Amino acid sequence: MQIKSAKEHYDIVIVGGGMVGASFACALDRAATDKNLSILVVEAFTLSNCLSIQPSFDARSTALSFGSSKVLEWAGLWTDLLEVVTPIKQIHVSDKGHFGSALLNHEEHKIDALGYVVENNQLGAVLSKAMESSSTIELLCPARIESVKPLAVGMKLAIVADETDFTVETSLVVLADGGKSPICSQLGISRDTETYEQHSLIANIAFENPHEHIAYERFTDTGPLAVLPLSRLENENRASLVWTVANDQVEELKLLAEEDLLERLQERFGNRLGKIRKIGERSFYPLSLSTAKEQIRPGLVLLGNVAHTLHPVAGQGLNLALRDIESLVNSLLSSRITNSQETLEVEKSLDSRSKNSKIGSMQNLQEYLRLQESDQAKTIMFTDKIAKLFSNNDKLKIWARKFGLLSIEMAPSIKKEFSKQAMGLREN
Ligand SMILES: Cc1cc2nc3c(=O)[nH]c(=O)nc-3n(C[C@H](O)[C@H](O)[C@H](O)COP(=O)(O)OP(=O)(O)OC[C@H]3O[C@@H](n4cnc5c(N)ncnc54)[C@H](O)[C@@H]3O)c2cc1C
Repeated sequence: MQIKSAKEHYDIVIVGGGMVGASFACALDRAATDKNLSILVVEAFTLSNCLSIQPSFDARSTALSFGSSKVLEWAGLWTDLLEVVTPIKQIHVSDKGHFGSALLNHEEHKIDALGYVVENNQLGAVLSKAMESSSTIELLCPARIESVKPLAVGMKLAIVADETDFTVETSLVVLADGGKSPICSQLGISRDTETYEQHSLIANIAFENPHEHIAYERFTDTGPLAVLPLSRLENENRASLVWTVANDQVEELKLLAEEDLLERLQERFGNRLGKIRKIGERSFYPLSLSTAKEQIRPGLVLLGNVAHTLHPVAGQGLNLALRDIESLVNSLLSSRITNSQETLEVEKSLDSRSKNSKIGSMQNLQEYLRLQESDQAKTIMFTDKIAKLFSNNDKLKIWARKFGLLSIEMAPSIKKEFSKQAMGLREN
C-alpha cells in the first residue's frame, strides 16, 4: 500500500522499487505466509504511472528466461504477467558474414517457451499493482534514501520525502538502488568495473513479416544485435532491438536520418523478417561489467545492478537477480522458522520486531551468498565471455566464433550449456 510517512521501525527496508527491489518485495510478501514481517519500499520516482521516467521501467523490453517465469510464478506475479508477455519459442543465433548458425527450440526441451519478452513499463505496471494492493508492503514514493548507517544491530536510514526529512530503523536493508549507487560509496563498498567501450542502442522496430515467436541473436563485426519478439500493435509486426555499438558510433547513430538507420540495420540483420519498416525512439546505454566487492554486511544485502551489472548481450541481468531473489527470500524465511522453533515459548511473548530482529544476521546472509555464489560467477563469466568473443573482428576471434557456433549446433554438451543459460535453469 502507498504511504505518506514511514513508521520508526521495519523488519526490512528495500532501497529502490525498480525491477529488482519491487520483485523482491513481492516475492517476500508472497512467501512469508504468516504476514508477520514489516516491509518498507522506498523509491525515488513515482510508481503509479510507470510510463517511462523511472529508470527501471523505461521503453526497453526484457527477455525473461523460462526459469524466471517460474520464479515470478512463485512470487505470485505470473498470472498478470502472462497477459502482457510474448513467448519465445525458438532462439536463432548467427554470425554475419560467416558460416555457422544455431537454433534452440522449445520443443527439444519439452516446455511451452524458452523464455518470454516483456516491455519494461508493463512489468513495472504489474509490480506496482502488486505492491500497492499488498497489505504488508508499505510503499513510500517519490522518496529518497539519503544515507544508511550501521547500528549495533540493524541499520538507520535517512529519508527525504516531499521535502520532509525523517529516519527509520530496520533489521535489514536490501539495497536495490541500481548500478550507480551513492549509498554503496557512502558505506565504503567499492566496485570492480570494466567498461566494454560500447553502448546499447535500444528501440522498437516494425518488420514486414511476423516474427513467429523467434528471438534472433546476431553477431556482427560491429557488435551483437538482438531482435526480440513483441506483440502486434496497430497492425505492425513489432520487435525489440538491442544493438551493441562501439562508443565512437553513438553520436552518428543518434543523428542518422530514420531511412539511413533502417538501411544500415537491414544490412546488419539481413532479410529474415523481410523489410524493416519503422524504428521508434532510440535510447543509448553505456555498457560495463561492474560488481560490488562486498554483497553482504550485518543488516545489509545488495541485490540487482548494485551487486552485479552485466553486458545485456545474453539478457542475463534481471534473470540472475530473480534467482538471487528466490534464494535470499528462502534463506531469510527458513532461518525465521528455525529461530521460532528453537525459541517458540519465549517468542510467544515477543512482539514481531523482536521476533524478526535476527533477519539481518550474517548467518542468514552468508547462507544466501553460499547458495548463489556459483550461479553468479558462472553467469557473469558466460556473459563477459560472449560479449568479448563476439565484439570485434579479429581473425582469430572469427575462427573461435565459427567454431563456437558450429559447436553449439553439433556438440550436444555445448548446446546444452548455451540453452541452460538462455533458459535460466539452475544446476540440479
Ligand atoms: C540495454 C539493456 C537491455 C537489457 N536486457 C535485459 C534482458 O533482456 N534480460 C535481463 O534479464 N536483463 C536485461 N537487462 C538488465 C536489467 O535491465 C537489469 O538487470 C535491471 O534493470 C536491474 O534492475 P535494478 O532494479 O537492480 O536497478 P535499476 O533498474 O537501476 O533500479 C534502481 C531503482 O532504485 C531507485 N533508486 C536509486 N537510488 C535510490 C535512493 N537513494 N532512494 C530511493 N530509490 C532509489 C531508482 O529510482 C530505480 O527505480 C538489460 C539491461 C540493459 C542496459
